[in-house]
Amino acid sequence: MPDIQRRKTGTVKIGQVRVGWEVPVVVQSMTNTDTADVAGTIEQVAALALAGSEIVRVTVNNEDAAAAVPHIVEGLDKRGIRVPIVGDFHYNGHLLLKKFPAAAKALAKYRINPGNVSIGRKDDDNFRTMVECAVENQKPVRIGVNWGSLDQALLTRMMDENSRLADPLPARDVMMEAMVVSALESARAAEHYGLGHDMIILSAKVSGVRDLIDVYTNLAARCDYPLHLGLTEAGMGSKGLIASTAGLAPLLLAGIGDTIRVSLTPKPGGDRTEEVLAAQQILQSLSIRSFMPQVTSCPGCGRTTSTYFQELAEQIQSYLRTSMPEWRRKYPGVEELKLAVMGCVVNGPGESKHANLGISLPGTFEEPKAPVYVDGKLYTTLRGDTIVAEFKQILDNYVESHYGQGAKSGELLEAR
Ligand code: SF4
Repeated sequence: MPDIQRRKTGTVKIGQVRVGWEVPVVVQSMTNTDTADVAGTIEQVAALALAGSEIVRVTVNNEDAAAAVPHIVEGLDKRGIRVPIVGDFHYNGHLLLKKFPAAAKALAKYRINPGNVSIGRKDDDNFRTMVECAVENQKPVRIGVNWGSLDQALLTRMMDENSRLADPLPARDVMMEAMVVSALESARAAEHYGLGHDMIILSAKVSGVRDLIDVYTNLAARCDYPLHLGLTEAGMGSKGLIASTAGLAPLLLAGIGDTIRVSLTPKPGGDRTEEVLAAQQILQSLSIRSFMPQVTSCPGCGRTTSTYFQELAEQIQSYLRTSMPEWRRKYPGVEELKLAVMGCVVNGPGESKHANLGISLPGTFEEPKAPVYVDGKLYTTLRGDTIVAEFKQILDNYVESHYGQGAKSGELLEAR
C-alpha cells in the first residue's frame, strides 16, 4: 500500500503531546459536562483518555468553569491521567484568562474562535489579550474558525468586494474563502502579538462534507500550520459517523490533517467515548494508525438463518474492547491483529486466510463444524457448544505467543 505523503508542517507541543507532520495524527475529543462540576468533568475526561483520546478539550465559558480548571487538572494528575486539557473560549476568554491565572497556567492550549472575539471590529483588544496570556504562559493556541460564528465584519467586507467584481463568485465560494482568510489573518495577528509560529494550530470547521474538503484543501495549500480536522455539528448516529468519515477520509488520504475530532451528537445519556472510537476507527480504516485488533465479519445472508454468527462476531468485538486496555500494556503491536468471523464456508476460509485468526461458522444445512485458520493455515475445526470459548482461548494463546514478552513468535500455536 503506498504511503500517505503528509503535508509538511511545523510541530506544536500541547503538554506532552506533539501535533504535526512528523508525528502520527492525534485523536482528540471534548467533554459535554458542566466544567464547573469538577468531579463529573474529571470522570468524563478520564473515560475519554482511557478510550484513547490524546487531548481533551473542556469549555471555559464562565468564572465557575475557569475556577474549576486547575482542580480538574490536579484531580486527573492524582489519578495518573496526564492527558493535556485544552480550554475552549468564546466571547469572554480575555476576561477569564486574566482573572483566573491558575486556569491559564493549568490549561495545555487555548482555543480561540476569531468570530467570537474582537477581531475585525474597531480594535482587537480581546484577541490580543488572549494571545498575550498564551505568550506569557507559553501555551499554544488553536485558532478555530467555525462557519456558524464566522467573523461577520470580514464576511461582509469580502461579500461587498465580491459584489463589485465584473463576474462575482457564488456566495458559497466567498464564504469558504472568508473561513480561510479569517484563520490566516488571525494567525498573522497572533504572531504579530508575539506568539511563535510553532505555537499555532488552525481549524476551519463547517458542517457540509464537500465544503469541509474544499476549505481545508485551500487552507492547507496556503500555510504550514498544523491543522485540526473535524466536521462540525456532524450529527447523531450513523449520519454523524458517515458524514465525518466522508469528510475526513479524502483529506487524510491527501496528507492533510494533524489532529482530528469527530463531533458526534450523543444520544441522551449516551457514551461520550463513542467519538474517540469513531476517530480511531477512521484512522485505522485508512491504515494511518492502529488502535485495536480489527474484526472482519460478513454481513450474513440467507445461508445463515440463525443469529449465532452475529452473536459470535459481537462477543469477539466486545472481548477485544474490554481486553485492550490491558493488552495494550502487555502486548505491544497487538493493535495490528486481524480477525475474521464469517457466517459460512462460501467466503469464510478465503477471508480467514487473509487474517491472523479466522473462523467460519456453519451455514444452514452445512455440517455443524467451524474451521479455524491461524496465519492462513487450517489450525483446527471446532464443534459443539463450546465454539466461542475455544475460539477465545485460541485468540488468547495467539496474542500471548505473538505479542507477549519473551514469547517466540508462533511457538504456542503450532497446528493441531
Ligand atoms: S460468507 Fe456465507 S453467510 Fe456470509 S455473506 Fe457470504 S455466503 Fe452469506
